[in-house]
Amino acid sequence: MKPAGQMLEMIRLLKDEYPISRTALRYETPHQMLVATILSAQCTDVRVNMVTEELFRKYKEINEFAEADLQELEQDIRSTGFYRQKAKNIKNSSIAILKKFSGNVPDTMEELITLPGVGRKTANVVLSSAYNITEGIAVDTHVKRLSFRLGLTRYTDPAKIEQDLMKLAPKEEWSDLSYRLILHGRAVCSARKPEHGICMLQHLCPRMGVQ
Ligand code: SF4
Repeated sequence: MKPAGQMLEMIRLLKDEYPISRTALRYETPHQMLVATILSAQCTDVRVNMVTEELFRKYKEINEFAEADLQELEQDIRSTGFYRQKAKNIKNSSIAILKKFSGNVPDTMEELITLPGVGRKTANVVLSSAYNITEGIAVDTHVKRLSFRLGLTRYTDPAKIEQDLMKLAPKEEWSDLSYRLILHGRAVCSARKPEHGICMLQHLCPRMGVQ
């Protein structure tokens, strides 16, 4: 694993390149943020925003998601992919929020991960975006790939990667670091064709696992 000093340098370069680091998902309430984050798995933010624009008009309150006809909800979100599982998670997590949390999306990691279909990644995104609370680092597919390539971890398990990143980066950087690694993964360090030649991290990167 890299020393913390190198991580600080990476953070500085990522900040220069991606000064704005907040979610592109559109939402107005913590519950809308939760729904959008569930939909964003294996889907682009642009597509999610297109779907939620109509979805949030149709289902305005948490109880409307909880009482939704599952098959109808599946069709409403179909274009985001994995729509059966996502619809089930949205409906069941909405039911759980009403039953266990009096209709309020919880604002702790401990409680959020008790919701159906909500893991640490989704919980981290909801906490930082909806509540401005930092408890960890959201590790999605981009963060996972870049952390390994950059030598920030030797693990491929998101929970272990998160622990390694948390040891290296100052807590106040955790949320932004995740977003910036995602932006860099999309723009430069893609899964299939990483563009080392234009990468501002190339002098710090051991390119682990890259052919
Ligand atoms: S140098 Fe290459 S592998 Fe390393 S972060 Fe940049 S694009 Fe990715």
